[in-house]
Amino acid sequence: MSENLSAAAMAQWVRQFATLIAQNREHLTELDAAIGDADHGANMDRGMSAVVKALDDAQPTAAGAVLTGVGMTLISTVGGASGPLFGTLFLRMGTALGDAGEVPSQELGTALRAGLEGVVARGKAELGDKTMVDALAPAADALDAALAEGLPLADAVARASEAAATGRDCTTPMLARKGRASYLGERSVGHQDPGATSVALLLEAASELGR
Ligand SMILES: [Mg+2]
Repeated sequence: MSENLSAAAMAQWVRQFATLIAQNREHLTELDAAIGDADHGANMDRGMSAVVKALDDAQPTAAGAVLTGVGMTLISTVGGASGPLFGTLFLRMGTALGDAGEVPSQELGTALRAGLEGVVARGKAELGDKTMVDALAPAADALDAALAEGLPLADAVARASEAAATGRDCTTPMLARKGRASYLGERSVGHQDPGATSVALLLEAASELGR
């Protein structure tokens, strides 16, 4: 068990996220077909496949640089809203971790918070708008609270993952107020948000951190 976040640990997280995105590609597409333009699964899978290929070619030696690289790859390979938003999430997380090879596990909370703030600034979405923020914000809150309690990283990440999943589920009855889904008005009610679903997968993918 390591309580430090290394470049290798960050890369493993990212690779696991890519695996979960690939496994859920059709599900994400179906969710986006209901309230968007049916491209979220394909877009995220294309982006994360490019991320894995970049990691295969050259893995940065600093934990933050791994995440920054993911952000740049997503922005350059994924169109629509997801590329810039998930790209910003990773860029801000990576920047928050700084240049050190390894960083203390508590900094994962700082990083996720910075990522959330970047997404909010870029997407102008608030809690309750039926977007990825509805999974990301509760995850950041849960991670901060668990780390402040002194929980080991793995347990703190598990709490954040549960919070993200609950936040994802809470998007179903919401009326979309941002993005393409907002054009549907009342017809957006009753459908789970694809972006929040991908955020829940991101936190699920982090389950090996600290183990
Ligand atoms: Mg879409």
